[in-house]
Amino acid sequence: MTHSTASTAKLAIDAPPLQTLPIRGGTERFPVNRVFCVGRNYADHAREMGHDPDREPPFFFMKPASAIVADGANFHYPSASSDVHHEIEFVVALAKGGFDVRAEEANDLIYGYAVGLDMTRRDLQGAAKKAGRPWESGKAFDGSAPCSEIVRVEATGHPAHATVQLAVNGTIKQEGDLADLIWSVPETIAYLSRLFTLQPGDLIFTGTPAGVGPVVRGDTLSGSVSGVAELRIEVV
Ligand code: MN
Repeated sequence: MTHSTASTAKLAIDAPPLQTLPIRGGTERFPVNRVFCVGRNYADHAREMGHDPDREPPFFFMKPASAIVADGANFHYPSASSDVHHEIEFVVALAKGGFDVRAEEANDLIYGYAVGLDMTRRDLQGAAKKAGRPWESGKAFDGSAPCSEIVRVEATGHPAHATVQLAVNGTIKQEGDLADLIWSVPETIAYLSRLFTLQPGDLIFTGTPAGVGPVVRGDTLSGSVSGVAELRIEVV
C-alpha cells in the first residue's frame, strides 16, 4: 500500500536534500527515510525517569531525517534549551518495508546496524509531558540524531548480546546490554509495523540504557555498540 504522489513534473522549488549515511566497507551510501525512536526500552532507564518498567506495549516517536549528524561531525548545542541530554542507542537500518510484519520474519527487513544518539532537550520534553503536549521540540530538533556509519548484517549478524556504551570526555556515563532490551529488535519491528507501514531507509533508534545526563559545549561524546559500530561527536 502506497500513497505516493511522485511525478515526473518539474519541481517548483529546490528538492530537499536526501539525507544519507556511509556504509562500512563500501562506497555506496544508505538513504535515510524516517527515524523512529522507541521510548523506555531498558528497565533501568525507565526507573531513572520515574516509571515502573513492565511489558506494556512499546511507544514510539519520530525525528526527521534532516536531524541526522554523521560520525565525526559537530553537535551544535540547540536554541531554547539549557538541559540537553545524551541518550546512546542501538540503531536498526531497514532495507525493506512492510505492514504487520511478524516478529519471526522481522530480521529479513534489516539492512544493517549502527549506534546513534537520541539527543534530547530534557527541559522542553519535561514541559511537554507535564502539559500533555507533543514531544517534537524536545526530541526532533535540528541535529538531534547523530548516527554512525551503517554496518551491514553480513558483517554483524543479528547481535543479541552487545554492550551499548557512552563515554563523555573519556568517562563512561551510560552502559547497557542488548540482552536487557524490554522489547527485542524483532518484537519492536513487529509492533511498529502495525502502526506504520515500514519503508526502505527507515531507521529505528531502539531506546537508551540508564545514565542519561546533560552535555555542555566542549564535551566529546564517544558511543559504541560492541562488535557493531562507534560514534564520536563534539558538542559545540
Ligand atoms: Mn531515546
